[in-house]
Amino acid sequence: MDGTLRLFATGLVPDDDAAATTVSVAEAVQGHLTLYEFIQWPLCPGHGHPMRPSVEHDKACRTCPASHRSICAIGELPPPDPSATVT
Ligand SMILES: [Zn+2]
Repeated sequence: MDGTLRLFATGLVPDDDAAATTVSVAEAVQGHLTLYEFIQWPLCPGHGHPMRPSVEHDKACRTCPASHRSICAIGELPPPDPSATVT
């Protein structure tokens, strides 16, 4: 630890800007869903792996971990693909 106050044991730093705080909350939610609910969400369109929360150009976004392409702003997920199968 570097001495920075972090909340919820996940790295939520009270002094972060809105985009960084949004990313921290999104990471906490994804971490909880993955570890405790065994749900991978949200999935990258076209790839099927989970997207990664990140700050891109001062905006909180979901990005593809493979292509590093920004997919959408956090809170603005594209509608689900009706042809996708749920397992
Ligand atoms: Zn992807």
